[in-house]
Amino acid sequence: MNQGEGQAAGGGGLTACRECDLLHRIVPLAPGGKALCTRCEAPLYRNVPGSVDRASALYLSALMLWVMANAFPFVSLKLGGRVEDNVMLSGPLALAREGMPELGLLVFLTSILFPLLTIAGSLYVLLPLRFGWRVPGAAPAYRMVRLLNPWSLVGVFMLGLLVSLVKLLDLADVLPGTGLYAFAGLLLATAAANANMDHDAIWPRVGPLPGGHGQATAATAAEHGLTGCHTCEMLVPAAPPGGRAHCPRCGSPVHGLRRPDSLARTSALLGSAALLLIPANLYPVMTVIRFGQGEPSTILGGVMHLIGGGMWPLAMLVFFASFVVPLSKIAVLVLLLVTVHRGSGWRRRDRTLLFRVTEVVGAWSMVDIFLVGILVALVNLGALASVRPGVGALFFGAAVVLTMLAAMSFDPRLIWDRAERPR
Ligand SMILES: [Zn+2]
Ligand SMILES: [Zn+2]
Repeated sequence: MNQGEGQAAGGGGLTACRECDLLHRIVPLAPGGKALCTRCEAPLYRNVPGSVDRASALYLSALMLWVMANAFPFVSLKLGGRVEDNVMLSGPLALAREGMPELGLLVFLTSILFPLLTIAGSLYVLLPLRFGWRVPGAAPAYRMVRLLNPWSLVGVFMLGLLVSLVKLLDLADVLPGTGLYAFAGLLLATAAANANMDHDAIWPRVGPLPGGHGQATAATAAEHGLTGCHTCEMLVPAAPPGGRAHCPRCGSPVHGLRRPDSLARTSALLGSAALLLIPANLYPVMTVIRFGQGEPSTILGGVMHLIGGGMWPLAMLVFFASFVVPLSKIAVLVLLLVTVHRGSGWRRRDRTLLFRVTEVVGAWSMVDIFLVGILVALVNLGALASVRPGVGALFFGAAVVLTMLAAMSFDPRLIWDRAERPR
């Protein structure tokens, strides 16, 4: 392994754009400043003043709020003198009890475990930086944080909760508990911590060119046989085809110049997701049972129900998240696959932007899964009313996970591989 590469990094280093691979010379930024790629406008790096202090404090508060959100009653339902208390874990447990442990696991991971691991992993990296401690395993911890961040869906869960509470208003009295307020605080704390997290305060992303010289700012990293490390973003020599290499600074595995088999993997995941969306929309995602009478409802049926109750804004939100987002995500990725396959030069910057938006909004489709999980847990009033999960929810959950994986396996640098260089 080439040990010298890591230590040689210093002032005047270079960084490669994550989305188009163009090399940029790193220039000092004013506090609060942000550097964008000159070619595709993806964010390159920024300067967050006091980043380590602020992010540590925010993640510490997030950790305490996570404990409170999970320990205290979340929402209680009052109907005819009966009060049912629920905690965060009630949703996953109720799904498992109703014969859908896979769905329960998905809700548990994305709303409870992954947020905790992201918070704990960030603190494990940040606190030693803040206090000058030396701890082993900071690199794997940071790698885990970056890997789990897209799957930590605190905000999406909050939206699912909001929709379910509105749906319950005509059924029973809903009493918010301490856990719910703590969860709202957790959402704010993690969002603020993310915004204050400056990845360069953890690992400066500068990397040297081989040989330590060269004025090539209109070149790509690939032209120098380099690729950005997925974890610390240092420029490292790419692994030979079929081979494996490790980042000399953080020890993460390094792929070749591009993600392996990106187009084939994305197509396969996308095809499976598109197939799963058919039963996901045909079968009911849940059945509401009132006084022994069952009303199965599909995703679109749930939207119609909200419209029928006069809740237009919420209906539009659910329609957008669970119908428009998955379909347009598939359409965008198909467009990207076809244009990349043809080596098209059409609107490269717009296509990169489309990809960026697709990656961010995709997770919001999970709102329907959370909605089902919350309602199954909350509405458990014996003969009066109960909610059962439907098999459509299982298909829908699988489709959302597959579209997220498809977006992650697509390498946006392929859009730019045959592009002309800016002057
Ligand atoms: Zn770029
Ligand atoms: Zn690295």
